[in-house]
Amino acid sequence: MKYRGCQSIDKIFPFLYDKNMKKIAVIGGGAAGMACAVLLARAGHDVTILERGARLGRKLSASGNGQGNVTNIDMGKTHYFTDDAEKLARILEKFGAADAVAFLEGMGGIFLPDARGRVYPASRQASSVTDLFRRELSRLGVRICLGAQVKKLAYDKKTAQFSVGWAEGHMQAEAVVLAAGGKAAKNFGTDGTAYALAQAFGHTVTPLSPSLVQLRTSPAAVRGLKGVRTDALLTVEKKGAPAVCFRGDVLFTESGVSGDAVFRASSYAEAGDILRLDLLPDVPASRLVNLREEGDLLCVLHSALARHIARLSRENGKTLSVFVKNFPLEVTGTLGFDYAQVTRGGIPLAEADGFLMSKLQPNFYFAGEILNVDGECGGYNLHWAFASAHAVAEALS
Ligand SMILES: Cc1cc2nc3c(=O)[nH]c(=O)nc-3n(C[C@H](O)[C@H](O)[C@H](O)COP(=O)(O)OP(=O)(O)OC[C@H]3O[C@@H](n4cnc5c(N)ncnc54)[C@H](O)[C@@H]3O)c2cc1C
Repeated sequence: MKYRGCQSIDKIFPFLYDKNMKKIAVIGGGAAGMACAVLLARAGHDVTILERGARLGRKLSASGNGQGNVTNIDMGKTHYFTDDAEKLARILEKFGAADAVAFLEGMGGIFLPDARGRVYPASRQASSVTDLFRRELSRLGVRICLGAQVKKLAYDKKTAQFSVGWAEGHMQAEAVVLAAGGKAAKNFGTDGTAYALAQAFGHTVTPLSPSLVQLRTSPAAVRGLKGVRTDALLTVEKKGAPAVCFRGDVLFTESGVSGDAVFRASSYAEAGDILRLDLLPDVPASRLVNLREEGDLLCVLHSALARHIARLSRENGKTLSVFVKNFPLEVTGTLGFDYAQVTRGGIPLAEADGFLMSKLQPNFYFAGEILNVDGECGGYNLHWAFASAHAVAEALS
């Protein structure tokens, strides 16, 4: 049931509530909020989703280049960044990749892993995953209030109820799940303003930074390469830390590098780090000893890369093969939150219990990216949205 800018939900739906049925407000209709709502409604609760946008699951529909990489077969805490790895590990142990697939397939559809363990809908259409959620939410009778940006959230000890308010309406709830996302990709409704709803209860927010994002380099370092895409082995060199490597696509842009390998590296890289690209990772250096001039790079590298490497070789007095196997780029920053897929940081996981209930306010729960948990590229962030929703539903069921 969908209502735009609903007014008083209590007045519109004066239901008689079963003793065990809780009236629950889920703030945010993204992957985590929708998953929470499905699980809580299945457990018999009376659930309302309050979503500030005009549609549910906008970010989910855009995920995985529109293909929806929903989880990863290789699941575990090592793929995540958080302040409380042990709590995260316990949540992931209870809800792994097979559970995510079973949960999604329980609503319909077929989900399949690719060769790298990344799980997608067989349709390869992220919006079809959102449609599965919409259909299930409608089947379960979850109320969906669109255009409702929650700006007020308070708890009344006397009535043991939360008061949830937005511009055009308000509702009372016995429990609230804050699933309003982080600060990345604000065109999907996530501009970081929702943290204030938790801060009002005394919660803190860790320093925030964009992750899974294009990396900036000096423009000169990538001049003439815009639009060139190549397979590479990318090594991130960081002072005082072991180097980390990623194999995948690197796409040169006007201001730096993008592509699958770069997105994965962006979880680790920061300004001042050096990226080293092996542009022919399957070819040993010994096969490159005869490369002497730019023409020798014909059919070896993209012509723009060949020109660039020939110039580097001339300027530095080193052989071409040195730069083919070790193309250096200094990171000067990232493209920022607006272009990032996820937020590094958030409400500390340590401020919630094992079922993601606030340690500061009973019956106040968190799910998804709003918490200080972010994963590597490869389905880990949507998995966290679903796994955290499962933890909340476990507590409330
Ligand atoms: C382009 C792109 C591609 C991605 N691809 C992948 C991928 O393939 N695999 C993967 O694992 N991850 C991917 N991610 C990351 C993943 O989509 C997110 O981590 C995940 O959607 C987070 O889910 P969430 O429900 O916590 O937050 P969101 O999906 O961001 O949902 C939060 C919702 O809350 C709403 N909201 C915010 N404030 C309020 C408020 N005050 N009141 C009411 N509503 C509010 C927002 O409008 C939004 O709809 C991608 C992200 C982007 C941007």
